[in-house]
Amino acid sequence: MDLPKTADVVIIGGGVVGCSIAYHLARRGARDVLVLERDAIGAGTTSKAAGGIRSQFPTETEIRFSLEAIRVFERFEEEFGVDPGYRKIGYLFLISDPEDLRGYEARVALQRSLGVDVRIVVPGEAKALVPALHVDDLIAAVWGPDDAMAGPSEVTSGFARRARDLGASIVEGVEVAGIELQGERATAVVTASGDSIATRVIVNAAGPGAARVGRLAGVELPVHPRRRHIFFTEPFPDIPGPVPLTTDRASGFYFRKEMEQVLLSPGDVEDVGDDFDVAVDRAKIAETVDKAVHRLPILETARIAGGWAGLRPLTPDDHAIIGWAPGVEGFFVAVGFGGHGFQHSPTTGRVVSEWLIDGAPSIDLSLFAPDRFARGQAAAADTGPDAE
Ligand SMILES: Cc1cc2nc3c(=O)[nH]c(=O)nc-3n(C[C@H](O)[C@H](O)[C@H](O)COP(=O)(O)OP(=O)(O)OC[C@H]3O[C@@H](n4cnc5c(N)ncnc54)[C@H](O)[C@@H]3O)c2cc1C
Repeated sequence: MDLPKTADVVIIGGGVVGCSIAYHLARRGARDVLVLERDAIGAGTTSKAAGGIRSQFPTETEIRFSLEAIRVFERFEEEFGVDPGYRKIGYLFLISDPEDLRGYEARVALQRSLGVDVRIVVPGEAKALVPALHVDDLIAAVWGPDDAMAGPSEVTSGFARRARDLGASIVEGVEVAGIELQGERATAVVTASGDSIATRVIVNAAGPGAARVGRLAGVELPVHPRRRHIFFTEPFPDIPGPVPLTTDRASGFYFRKEMEQVLLSPGDVEDVGDDFDVAVDRAKIAETVDKAVHRLPILETARIAGGWAGLRPLTPDDHAIIGWAPGVEGFFVAVGFGGHGFQHSPTTGRVVSEWLIDGAPSIDLSLFAPDRFARGQAAAADTGPDAE
């Protein structure tokens, strides 16, 4: 496809976040929205996500993001014509440390005050939910029965399809290699093959590549891509599904069923740069199996059939960065979603479209302020769930 010479809004990145923003802008009547994706729609870190959806977040803003997103996932097929595979499997956190439990008590109180069904339960109740669990070393568990899962690629293609139906252009195989500035204003993107596209607004939705794209406009964004693995077993009917997405807080290990297989993650967090191709470290298999067999002894008889690794775009305080980039007019960022960018994508798209069309979002998004790090006002890193 020939690239246009101009667009009203250029979104860099066709992951779940960029596609949701494109859809919501187009739905609000924005004309001339262009998404540039260097690879294929959803091929970035979105394709690596476990599909988890939870309301168990530590702040009111993020809990409200989840509650709104869940409403979208529930009627996704109606609105987007794609079955997202949405299923309420619940999220279960296993706790063995009293201090960790105290942190949960405060967060669960906040979540419940906002209408989330989440409960602290005794280890025996966790075992009733997942009979294969070893619970002798646990002191409690946190159970969110309304938490869920859905398919990241289905959701991304749903957003992309409707965005296109409504007039947005999404072009694959085009890398943005430069951003032109006139004074303090971003005025154009330049592609790797030298095409320049003049625009009023540039949106950085580059996922783990966000810091690199920020630097094209001279903006430093503290988005740190960190590798995480997921392995899967051969079909393993001895743990019948569905089971909740279950996270062992002591080791970071989590699992859920995917059809007949069990998905297993060691919960690793590792700096391997921000390269697009994220190599699988086979040494992680042994670590994963150790953690898995401790928590699910029955898995000793399972065989690992494969796995993958992806980059979670983390920020220093584990909250996303959403808003106008400081110091460069016309440059908007929606990045740093860590392990929850998929599940928050519906709400992110809506609030960003409000910001760009109405001039401000309808809800307070100061939690995500891009300048909070420079101002020293970022909340201390929360010790909440480092789950997806
Ligand atoms: C193992 C793992 C499990 C996860 N599990 C979950 C989960 O259960 N639930 C959940 O909500 N989240 C989960 N996540 C996190 C989730 O995957 C991310 O937060 C989310 O996908 C981020 O979406 P995005 O659109 O910002 O990024 P991406 O999907 O990476 O999209 C950004 C796009 O920008 C493109 N791009 C980058 N630079 C350029 C450029 N210069 N020019 C053009 N295009 C460019 C990339 O090719 C990419 O496609 C998980 C992540 C990992 C790694």
